[in-house]
Amino acid sequence: MTDNTVPREHVRAGVVECPLCGRQIAEPTDHLRVFGPACDPTAGTADAVECPVCDGVSFLKPRPDG
Ligand SMILES: [Zn+2]
Repeated sequence: MTDNTVPREHVRAGVVECPLCGRQIAEPTDHLRVFGPACDPTAGTADAVECPVCDGVSFLKPRPDG
């Protein structure tokens, strides 16, 4: 299993590099994914970010609280 994770602080900073294809995700907050009841994922609540280049989903570390 590939360890495709992205540091959450990078999402907060708005600078995320896709660990799958190595491309920088220009607007990471536009590509956040959440696997739960939350409907408005933010850098603090999202579970993952989807790469617009390779469509790969990378999980944010650390996981969201609660
Ligand atoms: Zn990618």
